[in-house]
Amino acid sequence: MTCIAKFDKAVKTLEEIYALFDTAMAAFPFACAKQCADCCTCNVTATGLEIAYIQDRLDAGALDDIRVRLDRAGQSRRYRPLQTTNGFALACMEGRDADEEENDPSWGTCPLLEDGICSIYPVRPLGCRVMMSTTPCRQTGQADMPFLALTITTIFMQFVEHLDAGGVYGSFLDLLEYAGKNALGCNRLKENDKISEIAQNLKIPALMIPPEHVEKTRTLVQSLGRMIRENDSSST
Ligand code: SF4
Ligand code: SF4
Repeated sequence: MTCIAKFDKAVKTLEEIYALFDTAMAAFPFACAKQCADCCTCNVTATGLEIAYIQDRLDAGALDDIRVRLDRAGQSRRYRPLQTTNGFALACMEGRDADEEENDPSWGTCPLLEDGICSIYPVRPLGCRVMMSTTPCRQTGQADMPFLALTITTIFMQFVEHLDAGGVYGSFLDLLEYAGKNALGCNRLKENDKISEIAQNLKIPALMIPPEHVEKTRTLVQSLGRMIRENDSSST
């Protein structure tokens, strides 16, 4: 299979995973509403494939708009993850401590936010989609996430990373800036591209599902597993 055909299949699978995530989350009574955007900070994370997906799905005008917004925002302090979700799972399995990381919402608002509305909403990465709360964050100063919803978001983070295993993971805005300035082979960021403070996506070492959620998430995990297997089999 050619590089471009593999890429096309991977972004289609990513899109299907996003749709499944949105469906799974619709079962919870989230208070999230249009123009409620305190969660839209500069600290969102993404995989390289998710950036490539945005580049693939948006037209030249929309991509230019992203570039202008990023230039205008300048280089600000951002959350830069030292390890991926699957890297964290692996560290737990091996009894290693997780890396200490700094993350503070006061570092700033996402520059892609316009009048409280996301300018790339349909193609936003999973790192944005998982920001949900059953009470408006502004009222309580934090997001309230049902325990089962937290488990489900973690499962999806693990599968989205697995889909791009070998690719990169890092600050969403860092990766967007980098992708906007560099011609990417096959539209895909790779681990050896020169970009600082990135982690490498790993395959799932084990799913992080508490025992009480194994049955409740079984069908979802089977669906995600099937999507990944179909993607992998069509990539060989
Ligand atoms: S996570 Fe919080 S700030 Fe974000 S949309 Fe939901 S309620 Fe609003
Ligand atoms: S990309 Fe969109 S949804 Fe994500 S943080 Fe920025 S404005 Fe919010």
